[in-house]
Order: sequence, then C-alpha cells, then structure tokens
Amino acid sequence: MISIPKGTKDVLPSTSYKWQFIEDCAREVARQFNINEVRTPVFEHTELFARGVGDTTDIVNKEMYTFLDKGGRSITLKPEGTAGVARMFIENGLASSPLPMKSFYITPCYRYERPQAGRLREFHQFGVEVYGSPSPAADAEVIFAASSFLNKLGIKDTRLEINSIGCKTCRAQYNAALRDYFKPRLAEMCATCNERFTKNPLRMLDCKEEECKKIAAGAPSILDYLCPDCAAHFESVKNLLSAQGIEYVVNPGIVRGLDYYTRTVFEFVSTSIGAQGTVCAGGRYDGLIAELGGSQTPAVGFAAGLERLMLLMDNTGVSFPAPHVPAIYIAGMDDVSRAKAFALVGALRARGISAECDLMGRSVKAQLKYADKLGAQYVAVIGESELATSSVNLKKMSDGSTNCVQLDDIGKYITENQGGTNG
Ligand code: ATP
Ligand code: MG
Repeated sequence: MISIPKGTKDVLPSTSYKWQFIEDCAREVARQFNINEVRTPVFEHTELFARGVGDTTDIVNKEMYTFLDKGGRSITLKPEGTAGVARMFIENGLASSPLPMKSFYITPCYRYERPQAGRLREFHQFGVEVYGSPSPAADAEVIFAASSFLNKLGIKDTRLEINSIGCKTCRAQYNAALRDYFKPRLAEMCATCNERFTKNPLRMLDCKEEECKKIAAGAPSILDYLCPDCAAHFESVKNLLSAQGIEYVVNPGIVRGLDYYTRTVFEFVSTSIGAQGTVCAGGRYDGLIAELGGSQTPAVGFAAGLERLMLLMDNTGVSFPAPHVPAIYIAGMDDVSRAKAFALVGALRARGISAECDLMGRSVKAQLKYADKLGAQYVAVIGESELATSSVNLKKMSDGSTNCVQLDDIGKYITENQGGTNG
C-alpha cells in the first residue's frame, strides 16, 4: 500500500465539517472587515522567497520545497502566503487601485520540517494583508481582525504579545547593542546563532535552542532603542488596541527579524498545545514590496496556522457546530418504491432540501439503520400502500413522532417544520 507522505494529513469525510467551520469563520471575519479574497499559485519562482523572505530565516535556509521543473526553472512550493500576494500586488499594478488594499487568503503552505505536534510539511494558513497604509490604525485593524477570528472560533485560551522592532534607523543602533551583548557569549551559542550574529543579530532572539534562549533572555530590549517616530507609532497601536478592549502584553523578545519587517510585530500564543504555541503571527513589513521591485508601499498583516488552531480547539474542548445531516431519508420497500423514492429525493433537492435514498440495494431494515447512522432528521418508508395513497408517515427521528403527509407535500412539510436545523 502507498502511504501518505510524512508530515501531511488527510481530511476525512467525518472531520471536514471542522475545517469548514474554521474556514467559514475566516471568511465571515473577512466579510465584516471588507477584506477580499486573493488566490496565488501554490508554486512560484524560487527567487520570490529566497529574496522575499530574507536569508536568515529557517524557512529559506532549511525548509523550502525547491525543485527544477521540466523547463529547468527553479520552482518553490509556497512556504508562506505573503510573498505571493506581494508579487501579485506589484505585477498587477495594484498600487494604483484604491488603497489600502485589504486582502486575505486561505492557502496550503509547504515547509520541509521535522514533523511533530503542530508542525507539518503541508499545513494551511489564513492570512490577511493590508497594503498602502503606514498608519497605526492599519496595524490595530489587522490585530483586531486576528483577534475577531479567534473569538469567532470560540478560542479563549490565547495571549496577544506585541512588540515594535523599529525602523532601519533604530535597528542599526539596536543591532550594535545586541552584538556588544552577544559577543562574549558566542562560544556558548549554536552555530546558527553564530551565523546570525554577523548577518542579522535580531534573529538570535528567536532561537529555539534552550541555551541560546537563556542567553537571549538577558539581551537589551529593542524598546529602549526606538526612535521617537517608531515609539510614537507603537504607542498609538497600543492605544488603539486598548480602545477596542483588546488585551495584550508587550514582549520585547518577539522578533520577525527580516530586513523588511518594521515596527509592529505580534503573536497570539497558547500554552495548551505544547511547544508549538504560536497560532497566529504577524506584523508590519514596510520594506517588502520595494524589496521585491515595487514602489515603496507600507504593509501589515498576519497569518494563522489552521492545524494549530484545530489542535488548540480540540485540546481545550472548544465545540464545533454540529456537522451537516440530511433532512430526510426516503427508504423504498421494492423496486417500484425505490424508483419513487429516488424521484422524490430529486424533487426535494431541487427545493434546496438535503435528502437521501438507497444507492446500495439494501433491505428496508438496512436502509433504516443507515439513515440512523447518517443522522437523518426525518425518515419515510415507501411501499405499495404509500404508492396507492400517495402519502407516507414521516417519522421525526429526534422524538419518534410520525405525521402522515402527501408525497407531493414532503418538501413543504419539512421546510415548515425544520426550524433551526442544518439539514
Ligand atoms: P514557528 O516559530 O512555530 O516555526 P514560524 O515563525 O515559522 O513558526 P510563521 O512563518 O510566522 O511561523 O507562520 C505563521 C503561522 O503558521 C504560525 O504561527 C503557525 O501557526 C503556522 N505554522 C508555521 N509553520 C508551521 C508548520 N510547519 N506546521 C503547521 N503550522 C505552521
Ligand atoms: Mg518555523
């Protein structure tokens, strides 16, 4: 038997309703915030990520699914959603569309990682991007959208951590301070951190090695190095969040660490899903679009990992709305009745009602057992006498009550009696 590739997962028919709920919540939040969906290819030219994401991230250094296609081009499966949207923005001249451009995506992402709980090789992100606004209001709006999404899912168990990593000016001074701090400790730190020390010391704050983490905990805080403009921007973001009633903690240890990231960075973190606690992460990246060859365009966004959200919801007992069940199952006793059941089901579906009948040639008893497994709300059995009287006893499965209904009126009856069910 051929098995599923390591680090990937199937969505089975019995659990797809959970994924649909998460995606529906994402789309509903997007609707409320007037954020339009965008779709970009699953694969892009490798250069988009290799420069678009920077070189000191794990993503670019170790995790990309890169291959040569049959035309000899280097292609990469998207490891994240932002770079593709930025390319789309530039390539389609969207800088001259009404700004801000607010877009969202729900996309698979691919990273060659060591699979573990909350860490897969194919996973999915819901992401939001707001292009064109330098205002703290855009940062706050993006954070507000992320927080609304988590609320809509029923997730309570996360903490919002925010930070500002300043602009090029403040970062230059901060990097110098970081180098002063880390220099005497370098021998105790991992090889990657030693490399980061030269290339981008900010990323040393993001190391996951225990020893490095310990050392990084005592590093100087970026917040002491913000220039007056960046400090004022951060103050405004915090004030806007407070005004919306969004609770946060300032964590100067949060960095995104890439050159194009500026000012606000944030994470929604949970302690209920083990080491991989960040379910949603984002920030401002005013430098990205220019770095990819577009005009200087401020941008802010986030991406939420859907598998981690699912894990969190399952681990903390967040309930999902009940899965879809058919409104009615119509069983047939013999061939003529089966044909009638088939026709009735067709007519009901044409009225928008979810209806089901036998496709397996089962006995009536087995059909009823199956209807029960499906969770059908009503069940009707058609035989000779039902055909003769053109009526049938509709059994309501929740309480066992029955009602005699004309065959042609089944649809009307169900519509009138269904109430708030999801058939
Ligand atoms: P981490 O520090 O956990 O590796 P990251 O910084 O690489 O995360 P981002 O690139 O910010 O993650 O991606 C945004 C979100 O996507 C993460 O917060 C997480 O919820 C999710 N995510 C990232 N990598 C994976 C993965 N390999 N499997 C499942 N979800 C992931
Ligand atoms: Mg990662």
